[in-house]
Amino acid sequence: MSSAEEFDVIVVGGGPGGSTLAALVAKQGHSVLVLEKEHFPRYQIGESLLPSTIHGVCRLTGAADALAKAGFPLKKGGTFRWGANPEPWTFSFAVSPQMAGPTSTAYQVERSKFDKILLDNARERGARVQEGCSVLDLLEDGDRVTGVRYTDDQGAERRATAKYVVDASGNKSRLHDKVGGKREYSEFFRNLALFGYFTGGKRLPEPTRYNILCVAFESGWFWYIPLSDSLTSVGAVVRRDMAEKVQGDPETALNDLIAECPMIADFLSPAERVTTGQYGEIRVRKDYSYHQTEFWRPGLVLIGDAACFVDPVFSSGVHLATYSALLAARSINSVLGGVLDEETALREFEARYRREYGVFYEFLVSFYQTHQAEGSYFWAAKQLTQSARPELEAFVELVGGVSSGEAALGDAETLMKRLEQQSAEFGSAVGATGGDGGGWVPMMNSPVVRDAMVEGSKVQLQAMLGEDAEEEPPLFEGGLVPSADGLLWRKST
Ligand code: FAD
Repeated sequence: MSSAEEFDVIVVGGGPGGSTLAALVAKQGHSVLVLEKEHFPRYQIGESLLPSTIHGVCRLTGAADALAKAGFPLKKGGTFRWGANPEPWTFSFAVSPQMAGPTSTAYQVERSKFDKILLDNARERGARVQEGCSVLDLLEDGDRVTGVRYTDDQGAERRATAKYVVDASGNKSRLHDKVGGKREYSEFFRNLALFGYFTGGKRLPEPTRYNILCVAFESGWFWYIPLSDSLTSVGAVVRRDMAEKVQGDPETALNDLIAECPMIADFLSPAERVTTGQYGEIRVRKDYSYHQTEFWRPGLVLIGDAACFVDPVFSSGVHLATYSALLAARSINSVLGGVLDEETALREFEARYRREYGVFYEFLVSFYQTHQAEGSYFWAAKQLTQSARPELEAFVELVGGVSSGEAALGDAETLMKRLEQQSAEFGSAVGATGGDGGGWVPMMNSPVVRDAMVEGSKVQLQAMLGEDAEEEPPLFEGGLVPSADGLLWRKST
């Protein structure tokens, strides 16, 4: 085995989390090695994005312009057949004055293309990216993680050392348990997803043509994501007690689920399933909602799916991966730059990350509990945000704010315990009609969500305004605030 090369930071995994962190740390002049086991472009699920990722984090990394040139369909909002109303209802990001103008859109992306743009951007910012390199294990010195052992693209075993190793290797991470604690799976979101790709499916009418479409039905709900004029990603999220429906031949299982859901069956009536290439397979994912009880230890930090993930209905996965990468990059940059000690910097990372995860978790539990017409969601959002604006705008601000909230400390573990006690079964919630109007109560009463609303769009604003952005208050007393360029933490003035 050759002698170990030394870096400031080693990033394990070149997905959106890893490439974002690598770009933001390399931009500060630190040496970064990204080890990615695949050769990009490679397939990944998670195609519907949020505005704060595109206009916030990706502007800070420098990837936004390349993304804008890639020609991804512009996602203007979401269309839902969900709850009591048999008709679909739509929200548009642009309804909110806070997200008005050019930042009111996100993209629907083919992840193979999107992830490659982000990884190439990390290279351009100065990170060394090595594809075809699989990390096997960590190197440790006492309590501290000091590097990794990996195989290179020729199959030779190598070692590299660093002041920090960042595990961004996704939900199948083999390193996450080395951080201490354990991965806890959500009892509430014990769902399965079965998904494939179709060409020639119908489209919603303009201006909602490229919205994500989510349709609840008896066994769960479908996503229908237009990836181009002809290509559509279609997936069924099925309750665990319906698991037998996704067993056996995947093609038959998917067809049977489509037949159960008249709106999706109608949209796919002129379509054909893709049967070759990266989209040719029907895939299954299960047990994908979890969080790690620890997010860091000396020398090791977990981001993205390696740390936590919650159900995809509001497209939070890539947001959480890139946002956690931003938080971790600020902490690592601050320690490497001699601005802060490790404990202070990484405590800030973990507190903010847990809070963001908690907001989405709580929001989603509430959404799954809904038995109401969409008007009550809008009304509820208005109560929650205490917005002076019309109800629909308040709802959109809520969704946008949840996607990019920066402030307020949330104890996600306590939150989750409380929610799991409160939550009715998934099955009684999705697609149900009628109800007593209490479905949104947990969300309404949540100070976590309220704080997220108040602090909404901070990353986005900071990326746009830089030094002109208003200083945000610290998360907790004596806590930290982002520096003017968004790449470090500093003490609040
Ligand atoms: P990943 O994207 O998984 O990247 C990790 C990388 O690490 C991979 O490239 C992998 O090859 C590499 N790697 C793994 N092990 C090693 C190793 N040992 N050594 C080196 N490299 C390694 N999110 C959304 O935003 N929108 C959606 O619409 C959406 N839909 C989803 C639907 C389903 C059914 C599921 C399950 C998830 C969905 N997600 C969605 C979530 C999304 O897929 C993830 O949250 C996102 O990909 C996480 O990014 P990441 O960078 O943390 O990890």
